[in-house]
Amino acid sequence: MNLIDYPAEPFRIKSVEPVKMLPRNERERVIKEAGYNTFLVPSEDVYIDLLTDSGTNAMSDQQWAGMMLGDEAYAGSRNFDHLEETVRDIFGLPHLVPTHQGRGAENLLSQIAIKPGQYVPGNMYFTTTRYHQERNGGTFVDIIRDEAHDASLSIPFKGNIDLDKLQRLIDEKGAENIAYVCLAVTVNLAGGQPVSMKNMKEVRELTTQYGIKVFYDATRCVENAFFIKEQEEGYGDKTIREIVREMFSYADGCTMSGKKDCLVNIGGFLCMNDEKLFEKAKELVVVYEGMPSYGGMAGRDMEAMAIGLKEAVQYEYIEHRVKQVRYLGDKLREAGIPIIEPTGGHAVFIDARRFCPHLTQDQFPAQSLAANLYLESGVRSMERGIVSAGRDKITGDHHRPKLETVRLTIPRRVYTYRHMDLVAAAVQSLYEKRETIKGLRFVYEPAQLRFFTARFEEI
Ligand SMILES: *Cc1c(COP(=O)(O)O)cnc(C)c1O
Repeated sequence: MNLIDYPAEPFRIKSVEPVKMLPRNERERVIKEAGYNTFLVPSEDVYIDLLTDSGTNAMSDQQWAGMMLGDEAYAGSRNFDHLEETVRDIFGLPHLVPTHQGRGAENLLSQIAIKPGQYVPGNMYFTTTRYHQERNGGTFVDIIRDEAHDASLSIPFKGNIDLDKLQRLIDEKGAENIAYVCLAVTVNLAGGQPVSMKNMKEVRELTTQYGIKVFYDATRCVENAFFIKEQEEGYGDKTIREIVREMFSYADGCTMSGKKDCLVNIGGFLCMNDEKLFEKAKELVVVYEGMPSYGGMAGRDMEAMAIGLKEAVQYEYIEHRVKQVRYLGDKLREAGIPIIEPTGGHAVFIDARRFCPHLTQDQFPAQSLAANLYLESGVRSMERGIVSAGRDKITGDHHRPKLETVRLTIPRRVYTYRHMDLVAAAVQSLYEKRETIKGLRFVYEPAQLRFFTARFEEI
């Protein structure tokens, strides 16, 4: 490893939050009480928290200052105007509907844009996204390129849509039976893999021929833009802002979880070009979220989000962000740990199939690996495999994703490279005794989004 490849933190630390590690016997009690589900471990009992990059961002001094500028009027808050202006400027999309978080936007979009019986093709599913699509009578169809399902294959832009798969779906089902294409930048469950500009453009060209709309899941769009700048020909000299703007010129709108690339702790939005759809979204937002000028957010939260978005598209920030994640991936790979290649934008995904070859997928190897990593080191991670994938809504059987992974998700601007060293050492020491990791079975399985609250016991 050459340290010059990993830029130092482009910030200095003004406020700190102490962390501590519980002794091993207490971690043992905690994980048992949590039913071997890291979602159910109290935050206080975690040493380094890599459960998610969602809402775990550290805000800047400017954002905290912005919190004091909250205009908490019920209607017509000036912070809405600031957010709207920022979204128009960065994404080029004119109509904004703020929501409490990303899934609030997914709920609205699925209700206004899906007719029961329609298909919603996308580059790999996401948990809450697919849930809302299916709840509104849609059927999700995975049209990501095949390579995305192969954990060990290291190629750029592994998140791309396979245009042949999209064409085939249109031919088979008819364009009128496709609600819209849902294009995620980056693809979370594929390992944070980016989509190339060329692919976005081609998807736009193909869908335009058939009058099909394209909505992005914009949650990690800035990370995606960094990969384009770094790896796609013709973009090296463009700014992150220019790249983001071009990406969204190929979309009809997007849903956004502000808890990721907007650098805030809560919030989200839906935005779009189409005025008629916007009217419909505004009619619904008052039912589920709040007035169209605040959706699910306080004025101060909209202000922090507007400032966060502007910070996120600064090169120094995003370069450090992506390369810090890559640093952890490089450390693990050099130690011989099987991970999804190449390392994506927000997390390193451990390949639990290769880490625990002694367990079958029905014994929930990734779930158990995440529990054991906590036990080993106080590091909290998350299962992204068969448990997260849930059950088929028709047959009731488990979805069995090819990727059975544990996600080490890096919060933005929170941890240092030294923390990454420690996480790598913990994973390595667990790898050395990997055959002691036991399989799990359900003791409690919730009907929806089961991974959040399920409980298990060791077999
Ligand atoms: C987090 C996330 C969402 C949902 O956003 P929330 O703010 O958690 O509701 C949607 N899509 C992707 C890719 C995400 O990572």
